[in-house]
Amino acid sequence: MRIFVTGGAGFIGSAVCRHLVRDLGLDVVVIDKLTYAASLASLDPIRNEPSYRLETVDICDAEAIGRLFEIYKPDGLIHLAAESHVDRSISGSKVFLDTNVVGTFTLLEAARAYLAGLGRQKAATFRFIHVSTDEVFGSLPDEGFFTETTAYDPSSPYSATKAASDHLAKAWFRTYGVPVIITNCSNNYGPYQFPEKLIPLMILKGLEGSALPVYGDGRNTRDWLFVEDHARALASVLDKGQAGETYNVGGRNEQHNIDVVRRICHILDAMRPGAGPHERLIAYVADRPGHDLRYAIDASKLETSLGWCARETFESGIEKTVEWYIERQDWWEPLRKRVYSGERLGLLPA
Ligand code: NAD
Repeated sequence: MRIFVTGGAGFIGSAVCRHLVRDLGLDVVVIDKLTYAASLASLDPIRNEPSYRLETVDICDAEAIGRLFEIYKPDGLIHLAAESHVDRSISGSKVFLDTNVVGTFTLLEAARAYLAGLGRQKAATFRFIHVSTDEVFGSLPDEGFFTETTAYDPSSPYSATKAASDHLAKAWFRTYGVPVIITNCSNNYGPYQFPEKLIPLMILKGLEGSALPVYGDGRNTRDWLFVEDHARALASVLDKGQAGETYNVGGRNEQHNIDVVRRICHILDAMRPGAGPHERLIAYVADRPGHDLRYAIDASKLETSLGWCARETFESGIEKTVEWYIERQDWWEPLRKRVYSGERLGLLPA
C-alpha cells in the first residue's frame, strides 16, 4: 500500500509516517510545503528507508497535486497539512484560510479526479482521512463530552478554518462519493512538537530558567493525547474506518493548563534538582482572546468500532516527553534560534 501523508514533516504527520513505515511496512509519500512548523529532522528515523519519499509541494497547488496522484497512484491519503497554531491565527488568519480551507478543497478535488480514472477495485478501497480537531466543537462547560454528533461552534480563526474544511470533506463524500473519513482529535503532545505549543514551550522555558507564561487563570482544560496514540488511531481508521463516518479521538486525560505546567515543573525538579523549584517561574499573563474553557472527547465510537484505545497515560507520556526534550537539544535548538524563540503570540493591540 502507498499512502500520501500531507503535512508529514510536521509534529503529528511525522509520527504518522514513522508508524506507517517502521511499524506497518507501508510506502509513504510525504507532501509538505515545509513551512516554519516543518522539521525534516523529525523524519530522520525513516529518511533512508526506500519506502519513504518526500515531495515539497503546497497543497494549494492544484496542478502539482494532480501530478503527484498521477505519478504515485496512492491507495489512500492522510491529510494533516495545516496551519495549526491558534495564537498565530489570531494575529494573521489569511494563511489559515489558504491552507486549511483552499488546500483541503484542492486535495478533495484532486482525489475526486484521480478516483474517477481508477479501476473499480482500487477506487472502492481508497480512503481520504481528513484529520481535524475537537476545537471545531467550541467550548464545553465543566460537564459533558464532545461526541461525533456535537454541533460545530468554533471560536478561533484556526478552529473556524478547520470546521470549514470538515464541512467540505463531508460534502465531497455526500455529493461526489469521495471516500472521506473525518477524525476530530483532542490536544496532542509528545516528541518532535514545535516549541510554540504549550507543553514544549513550558519545558524549554523551564530548562532555560525563564518565566512560564500561563494564560488567564490557568483553569482552561484540555484533553491530552500522546502523539503516538494518535498515529495508531489514524492507521486504524485508514485500515478499518467506514467511508463517510466521523471518529472522535481522545485520551481521556483532562487537565487544567496550570496542572500541566505544575507537573512539568515537578518532573524538571526531579531531573534537574539544582535548578528547582521550577514552580517559582510560573507567571500568569493576559488571556488568549476567545480562549475556549474546556475540551473533552468521548472516544467510545473509535474504541468500540475499531478496537483502538490510548496506551499512554498523561503521567507516563509527559515524563517521556520531558525526557525527550532534555535529550534532543539537537532537534529543538535550531528551531528556537532560527524560527521561534518563545515570544508571546496572538495578543490583540490594547
Ligand atoms: P504542525 O503545524 O506541526 O504541522 C503542519 C505541517 O503542515 C507542517 O509540516 C507544514 O509544513 C505543513 N503545511 C502547512 N501548510 C502547508 C501547505 N500549504 N502545503 C503543504 N504542507 C503544508 O501541525 P500538527 O500539530 O502536526 O497538526 C497536524 C494536523 O492535525 C492539523 O491538520 C491539525 O489541525 C490537526 N490536529 C492537531 C492537533 C494538535 O494538538 N497538534 C490536535 C488535533 C488535530
